Amino acid sequence: MIVEFFPGAPREDVERIRTLLLTEGCDVTEVLATRTVMLIADRHWQTPPLDLMSQLKASSWVADIRGMGSLIPRVAGDATKPITVRGVPFGGDSLVLIAGPCTIETYEELSATAQAVRAAGAQFLRGGAFKPTTSPYSYQGGGEEALQILAAVRKEADIGVVTEVMSPTQVERVAEVADIVQVGARNMQNFDLLREIGRSGAPALLKRGFGATLDEWLSAAEHIAVAGSERILLCERGIRSFDPLTRASLDVSGIAVARTRTHLPILADPSHAAGMRRFVEPLALAAVAAGAVGLMVEVHPDPQSSIKDGAQSLDFDAFARLARRARAVWGAAHSERHADLQ
Ligand code: PEP
Ligand code: MN
Repeated sequence: MIVEFFPGAPREDVERIRTLLLTEGCDVTEVLATRTVMLIADRHWQTPPLDLMSQLKASSWVADIRGMGSLIPRVAGDATKPITVRGVPFGGDSLVLIAGPCTIETYEELSATAQAVRAAGAQFLRGGAFKPTTSPYSYQGGGEEALQILAAVRKEADIGVVTEVMSPTQVERVAEVADIVQVGARNMQNFDLLREIGRSGAPALLKRGFGATLDEWLSAAEHIAVAGSERILLCERGIRSFDPLTRASLDVSGIAVARTRTHLPILADPSHAAGMRRFVEPLALAAVAAGAVGLMVEVHPDPQSSIKDGAQSLDFDAFARLARRARAVWGAAHSERHADLQ
């Protein structure tokens, strides 16, 4: 059972309820969220004792009492609740597109990419300044200089930007520039980072770790929520499978299932799952059909010359085609769903 208090609940009231729960034989853990306190009673009753329930309900400081069916009370849900960033609703009536290079290279390239992806209908530009790399010898991003390029292009092209943040100490600076801060797959369980993002209130795009279960992914989102921000977008980017021919396997089933377990909008990144350009579009279309409300796609003016992830990056024409087709799949899926509800 989870007992959530209203902000400002006096200590004596929280302690009184804790004692009640202890008396019922529960192990009680206190979770301090930014605005509220929660007591997690590690006991699951078919029907909680009536007496206990009436005492809990009688406290004017208790805001909510939830079952323990879920350890993700803040992000659990079975219908997507839209989250709006920069006036763009994720999970609203249209598909959201985020596109741009793996890593920010030059101002000229990023600026040209911003214009091209915007013309193709993308609402956000992506590009990494801080890159997590499996090998310490790979390019790790342009850092602060790249962030400044991103800030300049954001202003000039009037487009929202998404960029990765790798450590808690970078959150404040990255959130100054980015409309959405990205947590990479390799950092999905960097709990200090998640907490700092939650405290900052910056909208976050949380990639799924390539070895993480759906519940581990949602629990990572819960960490951000408990720390103070529920503006969280989830992004499936492929999980590790046994097959060496694919870089990763886009977990299309996972997208369909996760939608029934969380109200957070779910996006897909077909680029990192595909690893190769020719597979990006089919995966993107499958993700939209499975219920993704947005796509994040790697796009570069000249993919062959890209410093990072060129093999999976699309050129401008290929992205424009993908965007058109993805919107068509979105339209088909949503008009059918709409008709089902009539
Ligand atoms: C990226 O988006 O460039 C990236 C590094 O993605 P992931 O964390 O999913 O590997
Ligand atoms: Mn990449």
